[in-house]
Amino acid sequence: MKVLVETSARHLHLSQEHLEILFGKGHELTVKKMLSQPGQFACEEKVEVIGSKGSLKMSVLGPVRKDTQIEVSLTDARSLGVAAPIRESGDIAGTGACKLVGPEGEVELTEGVIAAKRHVHMTPEDAEKAGVKDKDIVKLDIESPNGRSLTFGDVVVRVSASYATAAHIDTDEANALAPGKECYGEMTK
Ligand SMILES: [Zn+2]
Repeated sequence: MKVLVETSARHLHLSQEHLEILFGKGHELTVKKMLSQPGQFACEEKVEVIGSKGSLKMSVLGPVRKDTQIEVSLTDARSLGVAAPIRESGDIAGTGACKLVGPEGEVELTEGVIAAKRHVHMTPEDAEKAGVKDKDIVKLDIESPNGRSLTFGDVVVRVSASYATAAHIDTDEANALAPGKECYGEMTK
């Protein structure tokens, strides 16, 4: 099955508690742009993420979540001086520490920094068509128009009726691939 491949740049998700510490009591996220996953959006709000070696300003993605989570590439992690284990979104126990700075306050996090494990969001209908289920590990064969075609292994399948079918890679992975404007991969088991 052919799936759309999208690149996720560094970003963070905030809990309501941390949102209010960083941006002020009762603050609500401001939608800048809706994303391809239903209900998900890029926000106007930006947060400075600080590690032992440097800092990067990152966009917040909404809506708010149960836990604050910072998603970076391994290149970002190195320049920040933070640990970023490769994890699925939401699996943050024991992940990297950092400090967040917003216009109204600061949060010292003991965990929450990850490099997102590459994954394919799938609707139940598409997963059935492709013969895969939630948590399956697949490969993605991707043709690069710029001479960097490659196959990604260890791609985790995530199935939910609330998803649109699309694969997500980070900016390091995208740079390794040098994709064209619109990029599709062939998913194989
Ligand atoms: Zn994703």
